[in-house]
Amino acid sequence: MKKIAIYSELKNNVIEDTAFELISKAKELAEKSKNTLNYDVEITTVLVANEVSENDVKKAFMAGSDNFVLLKNCDFGNFSQSTYSGALVSYLFENPHDFILFPATPTGRMIAPRVTTILDTGLVADCTGLDFIVKDNDIKLASTRPTFGAELMATILSKKRPECATIRPKTFKPNFSYSSEGKFKEFSCSIIEKYNFKIVDSKSDKKPAVDFSNFKIIFGAGYGLYDGQNYDYINKLHELARILGAGFAVSRKLVDFKISKSEFQVGQTGATVTPDLYVAFGISGAIQHIQGIKNSKTIVAINSDPNADIFNYADYKIVANAKNIIDQMYLKLGY
Ligand code: FAD
Repeated sequence: MKKIAIYSELKNNVIEDTAFELISKAKELAEKSKNTLNYDVEITTVLVANEVSENDVKKAFMAGSDNFVLLKNCDFGNFSQSTYSGALVSYLFENPHDFILFPATPTGRMIAPRVTTILDTGLVADCTGLDFIVKDNDIKLASTRPTFGAELMATILSKKRPECATIRPKTFKPNFSYSSEGKFKEFSCSIIEKYNFKIVDSKSDKKPAVDFSNFKIIFGAGYGLYDGQNYDYINKLHELARILGAGFAVSRKLVDFKISKSEFQVGQTGATVTPDLYVAFGISGAIQHIQGIKNSKTIVAINSDPNADIFNYADYKIVANAKNIIDQMYLKLGY
C-alpha cells in the first residue's frame, strides 16, 4: 500500500479549494495506480488546526480522500511556519508517507521546503502536472513544471522518499463524486520547533481588480490586436466583453508593452482561468499563456497565421483577421 498525504489549509476557518483540487488529482492517480499499475494507494488529508468543520471533512472524503487527520494540540493561533511545519513533521515521522502534495500558495510554499528539509528529501516546486509511473519496480511521482525561464516543461522524478511537490492553485479541478464516508482521526502533535517568528496580525490584501472565476466566458486579447500604434481593437474587445457579460484577459506581451494592466494577464506568471469558453483573439499560443488557459472547457482561437501554436490547443480554430471578427460581432449585436 502506498500513501499520499495532502497538506490542506484553512482560510477564515474553511478549508481552501486548493486542498480539494489536490485530493481529486491524487484520487485520479490512485485509481490509475490500482487499475493499471497494480498498486493500492491511500489518500490522507492533513490539516494543522485545533478544529475543523464536519462539512469540510465530508468535502475532503467526497473529493476522494480515504482519511482525514487533524493535527492538533498546539498553539495554532496565527500562522507560524515553524509551528505548522513542526506539527506536520511530528505526524509524518510517526506515520511515514510515500508522497506529500502541498498547494503552491504563499503559506504552502513556506511550509513545504521546511518539511522536506527536516525529512531529508527533495521537493519539486510549482508543478503544473502530476502523474504516476513505474520505475525500477516501484511507483514514482512524475512532477511536471516549467523550466528554463518557462520555455520548456520538465518532468522530474525524486530519488528520495517521501516524494514531494507543491502545485499551483487551479491546476486541477475538484471532483466531489466520491463517498462522504472516510476515517477521521485526531493526532496530538509532540515535536514542535521553537518559533522563529510569529504573525501577530493579518489584514486581507486589497481584492484583485479582476476575479476571473466570476466569468463563464473570457475573451483573451493578444498582440495580434495591436498594430504597433493604436490599441483600439484591444479596447473594443474589452468593451465587447463588458456588453456580453464576459471576462477580459490579455497575454503578457500586452502587459510588457504597457498596453494593458497586469491584473488582466493570464498565464504562467498571471492568473489561471477555467471558464466554459475562452476565446483567444490574436494570441500566438506560447506555452506560458497556455498554462493559464488549458483547463478552460472549450478554447476557440482566432489567428491570421494558420500555423499559430494556439491552434494545437484550440477546440475550434478560426484562421482570420481577429479585428474583422470583432467588427462582425459588434454588427451582429446592432452596434
Ligand atoms: P505574439 O507572440 O506576438 O503573437 C501575436 C499573434 O497574433 C501571432 O500568432 C499572430 O499570427 C497573430 N496575429 C497578428 N495579427 C493578427 C490579426 N489581425 N488577427 C489575428 N491574429 C493576428 N505570456 C502570457 O501570455 N502569460 C504569461 O503568464 C507569461 N509568462 C511568461 C513567463 C516567462 C518566464 C516568459 C519567458 C514568458 C512569459 N510569457 C507569458 C510570454 C510568452 O512567452 C509570449 O511572449 C506571449 O504570450 C506572446 O503574446 P501574444 O501571443 O499576445 O503575442
